[in-house]
Amino acid sequence: MSEVEKTRENLLKCRCKSCPSYTFACKLSAMPGNIILLMDAKDDRLHAETMFCAYGKSQCISDEKGCICPDCEVLEEYGLEKTYYCLENGGK
Ligand code: SF4
Ligand code: SF4
Repeated sequence: MSEVEKTRENLLKCRCKSCPSYTFACKLSAMPGNIILLMDAKDDRLHAETMFCAYGKSQCISDEKGCICPDCEVLEEYGLEKTYYCLENGGK
């Protein structure tokens, strides 16, 4: 397993925003992710509130309602083996 790079390409591949665990409140606070898409995904001051396998756990997701990471290209490309990266740094 290698560390997921905070790139615009990976952000676009991330499936989190289509996931049942991704709450409406989180959609509202995902603005940084949208800004990152326009600017620099590597800026460590910003948390994308998506692509949690790279940015670490979420500030706004707390319930397991299903995880679609297994359907994501990033998971396969980086050899990730866990799910729920939004709930625990490094996944569960
Ligand atoms: S593996 Fe999961 S957290 Fe990581 S980019 Fe894909 S959907 Fe997002
Ligand atoms: S890490 Fe998994 S459970 Fe969390 S938002 Fe992304 S796809 Fe959904």
